[in-house]
Amino acid sequence: MDSKVDSTAVKVAVRVRPLVQTEIARGCQEIVEVIPENEQVVLKSLDKAFTFNYVLGSNTEQDELYNRCVAPLLKSLFEGFNVTIFAYGQTGSGKTHSMGTAYCEGENVGVIPRAVHEIFSTVKDQFSFDFTITVSFVELYREILYDLMSEKSKEQCILEIREDLTKGIHIPNLTEIPVESAQQILDVLIKGSRGRATASTNMNATSSRSHSIFTVNLAMQHKVEKHQNRTAKLHLVDLAGSERPKKTGASGTTFKEGVDINKGLFVLGKVISALGDEKSQNNFVPYRDSNLTRLLKDSLGGNSVTLMIACISPADYNLEETLSTLRYADRAR
Ligand code: ADP
Ligand code: MG
Repeated sequence: MDSKVDSTAVKVAVRVRPLVQTEIARGCQEIVEVIPENEQVVLKSLDKAFTFNYVLGSNTEQDELYNRCVAPLLKSLFEGFNVTIFAYGQTGSGKTHSMGTAYCEGENVGVIPRAVHEIFSTVKDQFSFDFTITVSFVELYREILYDLMSEKSKEQCILEIREDLTKGIHIPNLTEIPVESAQQILDVLIKGSRGRATASTNMNATSSRSHSIFTVNLAMQHKVEKHQNRTAKLHLVDLAGSERPKKTGASGTTFKEGVDINKGLFVLGKVISALGDEKSQNNFVPYRDSNLTRLLKDSLGGNSVTLMIACISPADYNLEETLSTLRYADRAR
């Protein structure tokens, strides 16, 4: 386990999904090639290659994504590191499928349900600690933070992000649900993702334009030695679609949406690239420039571990967005 040495590292995984039905119907060609032994992705039509920490081709199963890229991070979590996992990519590229944000049962579940099960099985085996586990689920839409677990109406569940010297970043009134089993966490996930879908009249538009952040908080109390006590957070973030907003038909509102959303992704890119840069020790990290990065400030850099899962389509039709995703991911590495 090398998490101590490597604690500030940002790891990047690129996952290519298979062609989907609409792409096949359009007659799309696959233009993305994967060279697994080099962890490389090649855009054949541009003759461009990118290298990442992990490259997962279109036949990659969910358990391979989890076992290779995520499971090692959970070890760091139990050592007291904050862990943040992002899914980045254009709408339809496989973010929600990979993360498992919209929970579905079966073999094909994504990262969140797998991580949750592993957390509880680790807890069962740790006899020297008592655990307190809580979860929260929020959505950031046009720089406004909503509590997906609140019983109140959408307008009443708007949250504020505060920062002060004693508490650091905190969110007053956030619903934090105590949980004692994996199933209880998954119930939260199901309820929250339902809230995410129904809160808006145009579900696809909203959910592709909002960031959703599912957080598991662990407090570990050592049964004998108090100095061993530790806390850690796992954030699982399904980011807004990275595509540029359509120029045609953009009303004032949709244009503003585009601006705000790109701001979160844009600032996140700057923050992650500043963290990944070894010479950047004195570099200014612009956490405060977006609510997404303010919210995650204590879980990016410092005492934390980050994984970016960049999701791409293999189709020629999406070449421009795929190239833009690979460039973004390349800056993060
Ligand atoms: P996003 O959340 O990025 O908008 P989704 O996760 O909803 O994208 O994926 C879009 C579609 O592609 C869905 O129908 C999903 O089931 C399918 N899909 C995505 N990734 C994969 C994959 N690795 N294997 C099979 N199907 C996938
Ligand atoms: Mg999605």
